[in-house]
Amino acid sequence: AENLMVRYRGGALGISDVSFDAADGQIVAIFGANGAGKTTSVRAVSGFLKTEGAKIVRGRVTIDGKDVTGAEPHVTSRLGVAFIPERRKVFPSLTVTENLHSLGVLPPKSRRAELFDRVFTLFPILHERKSELAGKLSGGQQQMLAIGRGLLTEPRLLIVDEMTLGLHVSLHAPLFTAMRSIAEAGTTVVIVDESIEFALDVADHCYLLSSGRLTLQGPSEMFRGNELLAAGYVEA
Ligand code: ATP
Repeated sequence: AENLMVRYRGGALGISDVSFDAADGQIVAIFGANGAGKTTSVRAVSGFLKTEGAKIVRGRVTIDGKDVTGAEPHVTSRLGVAFIPERRKVFPSLTVTENLHSLGVLPPKSRRAELFDRVFTLFPILHERKSELAGKLSGGQQQMLAIGRGLLTEPRLLIVDEMTLGLHVSLHAPLFTAMRSIAEAGTTVVIVDESIEFALDVADHCYLLSSGRLTLQGPSEMFRGNELLAAGYVEA
């Protein structure tokens, strides 16, 4: 993303002059206080701005060199982007397995068993509860299910917005460990999360936003030991 400016309906500024990028297999974390522009930034890349009444008014988004500025989600998903939005999107009245089958386009039959196995290896609890209704899962398990469903598309870029929001702290580590495994398997991961200590442990590179602008970026080590800075509560 290069020099992005996003405005919401009525002209409200979402982000201004925000640039970030993620290399193959990297984990990138985006930090910032409430309203800093984290969600807007990842929506701009995944194409989920229009549904929120927003649009990119300046700047450029490219995926593998292909200009996808302002492209709709079906375009970015074809290029390998899986976006897991802040509010988990599972179907509560379907079972875990049915949820995994509820993708618009299922993986080809020849790959399906392997991909399902991969999701169940990453999140064994989903296997244990595969015949249960998703609505009966805990918030963390629903998050795992949403991420697992995203992985069935074999994304090149997985974006998870507010991954641990509202989840018990005991679930943070397993989710971040899963992100590390996903990246090691070659998928690029972008995480927006307020569980900064864990995010710093797994991320390769971090971006700090403040009032819609990028204020600091660098390797995780740069932010480590200064979680307040990463949270955007102190000036860089
Ligand atoms: P949070 O942690 O609270 O989710 P955030 O860092 O993700 O915050 P954004 O949600 O991207 O921040 O918000 C960035 C700016 O865009 C804020 O000033 C916010 O008020 C504005 N904004 C976000 N969504 C909308 C919307 N639907 N309509 C108008 N303005 C919006």
